Amino acid sequence: MIAKIRVDPGTRPHIAKRDARDDLGFGSKEAASAHLDVLHTKLETLQQRLFAENRRSLLLVLQGLDASGKDGVIRRVFEGVNPQGCRVVSFKAPTSSELAHDYLWRVHASLPGRGEIGIFNRSHYEDVVAVRILQLVPDEVWKRRPHHIVEWERMLVDEGTTLVKAFLNVSKEEQRQRLQERLDDPEKRWKFRKADLDVRARFDDYIAAYDEVIEQTSTEHAPWYVVPADRNWVKATAVAALMVDALERMDPQLPEPEEGLEGLVVT
Ligand code: AMP
Ligand code: MG
Repeated sequence: MIAKIRVDPGTRPHIAKRDARDDLGFGSKEAASAHLDVLHTKLETLQQRLFAENRRSLLLVLQGLDASGKDGVIRRVFEGVNPQGCRVVSFKAPTSSELAHDYLWRVHASLPGRGEIGIFNRSHYEDVVAVRILQLVPDEVWKRRPHHIVEWERMLVDEGTTLVKAFLNVSKEEQRQRLQERLDDPEKRWKFRKADLDVRARFDDYIAAYDEVIEQTSTEHAPWYVVPADRNWVKATAVAALMVDALERMDPQLPEPEEGLEGLVVT
């Protein structure tokens, strides 16, 4: 499953040609849900160890168009994970003080500390894609950024952060339905902004821009995964599997207990 969605370094993901309804072999919603229960248990234990070890960090970078389900993934994947060891950051259009610095400034300041899992809801990849499509900076500025990002992420890995980068691939039709649902449901309407329609109108341009940046920045040290996102149970289970896989490879170790605890009785 993981090999199927991994973007091998130097290859183009061809997002538009991928099936956003792929079930990745999970079979049914029920089967995926049972699988997710198992992953939750593993994730909880591994996170506790990562926290106890207090030496390294794990960062999940979530990208995807509007209504691709980034918020839902965060909710569903991290159910049962100790909030004390987690840090979720949502990146919006930069404020004036953020714009007074380089584009990685706010991102760097939001990284997880040692022992923590960081979750980026959008990320520095907006500084390549959104700024490109919306023409917020000249072409030469966003074009050189993938190169910075590859090196910056290499530094993070060298310094003890494992990166998992997931692009949630929602189809145009599924996005239409979800945006309509947001409009129609009073509980969801707050999420809808008219500007979402402008973004939707450029759906294909966004996908093409992601295709390019993902090819440029999927590396051995920080690979991208393109997750089929039309079905919520597929993407939550897939992202949970990516997190568990990353943590199992990190294999966090509990600190050595103090000497002389053997046989000690608390009275
Ligand atoms: P939402 O995730 O729906 O709250 O929307 C956040 C919006 O902020 C999206 O339209 C993003 O494209 C936009 N955004 C996030 N980061 C940046 C950035 N660095 N430059 C421009 N727009 C951004
Ligand atoms: Mg939005």
